[in-house]
Amino acid sequence: MTEMVQERVHVFYCPHKILFGLNVARGVASEVRSLGGSKPLLVTDPGVSQAGLLAPVLGSLEEASIPYALFDRVEPEPPARLVDQGARMFREEGCDMVVGVGGGSSLDVAKGISVMATNQGSVLDVCGFDLVKNRGVPKILLPTTAGTGSEVTRVFVITDEAENTKKAVYSPYVLAEVAMVDPLLTMSMPAKVTADTGLDALVHAIETYVSVNATPFSDILAERAIEWIGTYLPMAWAKGSNLTARYHMALAATVAGMAFASGGLGAVHGLCYPLGTEYHMSHGRSNAIMLPHVMRFNIPGNPEKFANIASLLGRDVEGLSFVEAAHMAVEAVEDLLDSVQVPYRLRDYGIPESDLPKLVAGGMKQTRLFVPNPRDLKEQDVKEIFQEAY
Ligand code: NAD
Repeated sequence: MTEMVQERVHVFYCPHKILFGLNVARGVASEVRSLGGSKPLLVTDPGVSQAGLLAPVLGSLEEASIPYALFDRVEPEPPARLVDQGARMFREEGCDMVVGVGGGSSLDVAKGISVMATNQGSVLDVCGFDLVKNRGVPKILLPTTAGTGSEVTRVFVITDEAENTKKAVYSPYVLAEVAMVDPLLTMSMPAKVTADTGLDALVHAIETYVSVNATPFSDILAERAIEWIGTYLPMAWAKGSNLTARYHMALAATVAGMAFASGGLGAVHGLCYPLGTEYHMSHGRSNAIMLPHVMRFNIPGNPEKFANIASLLGRDVEGLSFVEAAHMAVEAVEDLLDSVQVPYRLRDYGIPESDLPKLVAGGMKQTRLFVPNPRDLKEQDVKEIFQEAY
C-alpha cells in the first residue's frame, strides 16, 4: 500500500477514443467523418492486404462515398524511409488524415506519416522525446495483430538503416485520435505470428508492471493483461478460429499497450533490439527470447511484483517467500514459451557464440530503456545476460 501514497504524480496517456468489439472496423467511415476527414491515406502492408483485412474498412469508406489513397508498402521493422515516402504521398494525394490497418509495423508507419505530414525534414530528425514540433493530422488505428498495442501508445519505432539500429519517436501527438480494435481482424494470423505478437504483449505487461515508473493505473491494466495472456495465448495459438481466445488476446494487447504507454518498458526491450536488427527476427520473437533471462536478473529489484506475476500466471505461491515465488514466475513464463513452441536460447536460432560481443554492443546502444528497469545494468551485466541467453 505504501506505493499508493507516494508523492509523485502519476501520468496516464491514452487515445481520445477506443472502440473495442466485433465488427467495429465496419464503422470506420463515421469515425473519419466525425474527425472532419474527407480523404484518408490508408497505410498497411502487403500481407495484411492479401489476407483480405482491408475489406471492412474499404467497404465502409466506399459505402459512405469517402475517397482514399492507399500506401501499402510497409515492411516489417519498418525503415525510416517508408515514413518519409508515405508523408510525400500524403501531400501529393491531397489527403487530410491517416487510417492505419495492420500490425505494429503498419500502425507505426501510419503514426509517423501523420506527424511528418505537418513537419519538415525526415522522421529521423524527430527521434527521441518530444521533438515533434507541429501536431500531426488525425489518425485512426486498427490493429490486425494482438501484440504491440501501438494503437494506444504515444510512441512509434522505426529502423535507422544507416546505423543499423531501431529508433523511437515519443510525442503526445503520436497518440491516436481513435483506436478501433476489432478482434475479427486478428483471426487470420498464422500460429507463429500469433505466438510472437502475443508474447510481445506479455513482455509489455511484465516489463511495465515491474518498472520503476509503474503507476496504479499501469498496474491494474498490466495485471489483467498477464492473466489473459497466460490463459488465452496457448488457445489462440492452438486454434486460430477460437473467437474467445482471439477476443481476450486483442483485449490483453490493447490494455498492455495502455499500461506501458504510461509505465514504460525495460531491459528486455533494450536487449531484444540487436537481435531484431542483426538476424531479422520479428520484434515479438526477439522480446520473447530475452524475457526469462532478463526476468531472472531483475528479481532482486522487485521480488514482490515478480511473485505476483507467478500468481497471475496461475501458479500456487501459498507459503512461499517473494523470492521463491518470483523464480516460479520465470518458470511459468518458460512453460508458456514452450507451450507455443518458442525456444528461448540464442543457440536454438543458430546464433554463434562469437556474435555475443556484437549483441552486447547493440544492447548498450539502448541504455535509455535501462532507466525504468527494476535493476541497474552495467555492460558486464548485459554480457552475463546474453551469455545466459546463449
Ligand atoms: P508486423 O506488423 O510486422 O506484422 C508481422 C506480419 O504479420 C506481417 O507480414 C503482416 O503482414 C502479418 N499480419 C499482420 N496481421 C495479420 C493477420 N491478421 N493475418 C495474417 N497476417 C497478418 O508485426 P507486429 O509484431 O504487429 O509489429 C512489429 C512492429 O511493431 C515492430 O517494428 C515493433 O518495433 C513495433 N512496435 C511498436 C510499438 C508501439 O507502441 N508503437 C510497440 C511494440 C512494437
